[in-house]
Amino acid sequence: MNFSYCCTECGKRYEITPELTVCPDCAKTQQPDQPLAGVLEVMLEGEPPQNWTVADLLPVPAEYFPPAPVGDTPLWEPRNLRAELGLPNLFIKDDGANPTSSFKDRASFLVSAFAKQHGIKDIVLASTGNAGSSMAGIGAAAGQRVTLFLPEAAPPAKIIQAMQYGARVFKVRGNYDFAYALSQEYSRRHGGMNRNTAYNPMTLEGKKTVSLELFRQLGRVPDHVFVPTGDGCIIGGVIKGFADLVRLGIAERMPVIWCAQSEGSDAINRALDGDGTFAKRSATTLADSISVDVPANGHAVVRQMREHGGRTVTVPDAAILKAQAKLSSSTGLFTEPAGAAAMAGMLAARKHISPDQTVVVLATGNGLKDTKTAMQGVHEPGRAIQSIDDIKE
Ligand SMILES: *Cc1c(COP(=O)(O)O)cnc(C)c1O
Repeated sequence: MNFSYCCTECGKRYEITPELTVCPDCAKTQQPDQPLAGVLEVMLEGEPPQNWTVADLLPVPAEYFPPAPVGDTPLWEPRNLRAELGLPNLFIKDDGANPTSSFKDRASFLVSAFAKQHGIKDIVLASTGNAGSSMAGIGAAAGQRVTLFLPEAAPPAKIIQAMQYGARVFKVRGNYDFAYALSQEYSRRHGGMNRNTAYNPMTLEGKKTVSLELFRQLGRVPDHVFVPTGDGCIIGGVIKGFADLVRLGIAERMPVIWCAQSEGSDAINRALDGDGTFAKRSATTLADSISVDVPANGHAVVRQMREHGGRTVTVPDAAILKAQAKLSSSTGLFTEPAGAAAMAGMLAARKHISPDQTVVVLATGNGLKDTKTAMQGVHEPGRAIQSIDDIKE
């Protein structure tokens, strides 16, 4: 297989090198408070091997992969939920089962491998929490130094995780967008590899692996895939994964990809439902992993979603909390609020799905990553008891 970079805006092709992040020409058009200009995508050309594996379709050779079991996450068949919703072919992809308990490990895995391939030991990033704890963990496995900029409001579990993995952690007085700006400046001054989502093309490329896996696990392309979305990097990767399979002649069609967002952080859905442009608005959702003012991968996602007939579904935070508890209590799978946003989106879009269709909901992070928010969706146990007689029915 041959791999190169292709600009998602102007289509110009480039050789893959660690110095190149966004298209130098399109980057000149970057406006403040707008999604990244000139996001690069990996192009694959050639004949895939007959019995292809996920590694065959990645631009970094397997010898550089970090020693951490990323991906191959379980595909749940939720019997109770299937019966209740009348969807016998409903599946939940449990990406909270990754080593650091979130989907972000797919991106960190490939970034780590790419850095290793080029002898780069330092990796820098900004994160709302999961990308940072993920890069810290995967970097620890690979023996790389990770420097991380996190908003001070990030859930404690995610900060503690990153510190346990030995990352250098800077809490930033401000939101993710500000942490992002600081990490970019740090990279300019100190070098190393920058893993910021969408800015490093390997993040999108790593995230496509979920689609390759789904195709293999199901033995077919699903009809619908629900993706919780903030920056738009996961959904961009999901679309690219299926598009690669179609381009290579392995699959013959695309699924309908649903962009699930919270009402309080819906920049991509507003752009998709509108004229494709982005107006800055402060994000406020309790699903911290999808709380984004300006989605980094916004432009590329709008283009991909329009090309492939993607759909939007926007849900209030209350529906996310409800979906989280419903998923937990009916299946045994406890996902964090961002993960539950995809579930809430599927419930809201139920009428657009027919019973014979195959539906996949991406549960992107483990529920224990943010217990404070999860508590809002359940009843506290109440006063401690001292005797069975204290129990009132
Ligand atoms: C990052 C993240 C998302 C959203 O991914 P984007 O690429 O920002 O759209 C969803 N769920 C979880 C758990 C995440 O960590």
